[in-house]
Amino acid sequence: MATLRFLGAVNDVTGSCCLLETDRARVLLDCGLYQGSNTEEAQNARPFPFDATALDAVVLSHAHLDHSGRLPQLMRNGCRATIHLTPASYDLLEIMLKDSAFLNERDAEWRNRRALRAGKPPIEPLYTSADVTHCLSFCQGVRYGARQRIADGVEVCFRDAGHILGSAIVELYIHEQGRETKLLFSGDLGNSFSALLRDPEIVNHADVVLLESTYGDHDHRSLAATLDELHTILQQAADSGGNVLIPSFAVGRTQELLFRLGEFYQAGQLPQQIVFLDSPMAIAATEVYHRYQAMFNRADAAQLARSHAGTLHTFLPPLYYSRSAEESMRINSVTGGTIIIAGSGMCDGGRIRHHLKHNLWRRGAHVIIVGYQALGTPGRALIDGAETLHLLGEDIAVKASIHTLGGFSAHAGQTQLRDWLRHLKPAKPRLYLVHGEATKKAALQQVLRQDGWQPEIPAYDQVINL
Ligand SMILES: [Zn+2]
Repeated sequence: MATLRFLGAVNDVTGSCCLLETDRARVLLDCGLYQGSNTEEAQNARPFPFDATALDAVVLSHAHLDHSGRLPQLMRNGCRATIHLTPASYDLLEIMLKDSAFLNERDAEWRNRRALRAGKPPIEPLYTSADVTHCLSFCQGVRYGARQRIADGVEVCFRDAGHILGSAIVELYIHEQGRETKLLFSGDLGNSFSALLRDPEIVNHADVVLLESTYGDHDHRSLAATLDELHTILQQAADSGGNVLIPSFAVGRTQELLFRLGEFYQAGQLPQQIVFLDSPMAIAATEVYHRYQAMFNRADAAQLARSHAGTLHTFLPPLYYSRSAEESMRINSVTGGTIIIAGSGMCDGGRIRHHLKHNLWRRGAHVIIVGYQALGTPGRALIDGAETLHLLGEDIAVKASIHTLGGFSAHAGQTQLRDWLRHLKPAKPRLYLVHGEATKKAALQQVLRQDGWQPEIPAYDQVINL
C-alpha cells in the first residue's frame, strides 16, 4: 500500500516536503528550506529523516526556496534521482539557489572569523555554489500538461498554479496492484488578481488532495482598491518631493510591481520620472519572465504588446536597471522623485538597507511594504511603528511615511481556495491542509466543513495510506 509522509510545512509555511513510498518507488515532493526565526532555520542543518540515496525521483512544485532550498543538500547527501520541474522553474531555481549558496557561504565566512578568534571550530556553509551546480545537473524539465513516468509505477503531470512563473500544481498518478490512485498537491496556489500569470488551473479529479492554506483565514483586498491606494501614495510622494522605497522579493512580486507601474505609465498616471530596479537577482528574474512571455495571461500579454518591444522594460520606459554596486550607490544622492525597488523583501539584507539609511529620516520619503514581514525583521519593525531603525551600524530616525499594501499577494485568498476545491466535487477526495500557520489552517478547516469537506490537518512525520 502506498503511503505519504509529511516532512515539512505542516506547522508553518516553510520547509515544504513530503515523501511518497510505494512497494516499488520512493518519490520526494519538494525539498524546501525552513525560513524565519533562528529556531526555524536551525532545522535546515538537521539530517534528512529519510535515506537520500534511496530516492527514485524528486518533484518540485516551484522555485521558491521554501519549496526548493534544500535540494543542494539532498544531492550532496548522495541522492542520484532526477529532479522533475517545469522549464521556467529551472531557470528561476538556478538564480535562487545560486543566491542562496552565496549568502550561506558569506554567512559561514563571517561566523568563522568570529569562531577563529574565540578558538572555536569552524562551521560549514549549508551548501556552496559547487553543490548548487551539482544539484542543477540532475534537473529535468517537464512541460505543463505532459504526463511523464518518473519512477516505477509513478507518473507526474504539472498544471499551471499561477503563483510565480513556472509554478505547478502537481498531479501524481500512482499504480499499485492494478489500481491507480491520484494524489493532487496544490503547491502554492496563485491569486487570480496577480499580474502577468494565468489563473490556477482547474482540476476535476483526485483521490487525495494536499491544499496550501497560507491565507486560509481571509480574502485579499480587491485589486482596484490596492491599485488606487498605490497610486495615491505615489502622488503623495511626488507632492512631498521624496523618494518611494519598495522592499521587494526578487521573484514574482517585483515583476508584478513593474507591470502595475507600467500600467500607470501607459495611462499617463505615473508621477515619478525614474524607477530603479536595484537588485541583480530581481533583474535576472525579470529577464527569465521575459523569456517565458508566452505563458502570461492573455489580457496582460495584450497590454504589454501595446509597447513597441512588448517587454516590461518598454512597457515602463522610466525603468532603469541598477546592476553594479557603483550604480546602486549613485542612487543614494537622489533625494526625490524616484521609485526604488530593491531587496531584500523584509529589509534584513541587500541594497534596500542603504536606501532606507539615506531616506528613512526624510519626512517627504515614503516606504511601501508589499509583502509578508516576519517578526524580528526591520520590515516588521517599520510596520509596527518603530521610531528608529538600526541599519548598517547606525540608528536611523523613521520620519518617512510607511504604508502597507496587502493586495499584492501571490497566494489565493480563502474564497479562491474554496472555489478551486469546488471543482473536485462530487468525488470529494480526502483532503489535507498544509503550508499554513495553525490559525489559518483552523479557519480554513472550519469553512471547508461548511462546504461538505472533512479536511484533516496532518502533524509532522505523520504517515497516511493512499
Ligand atoms: Zn511560493
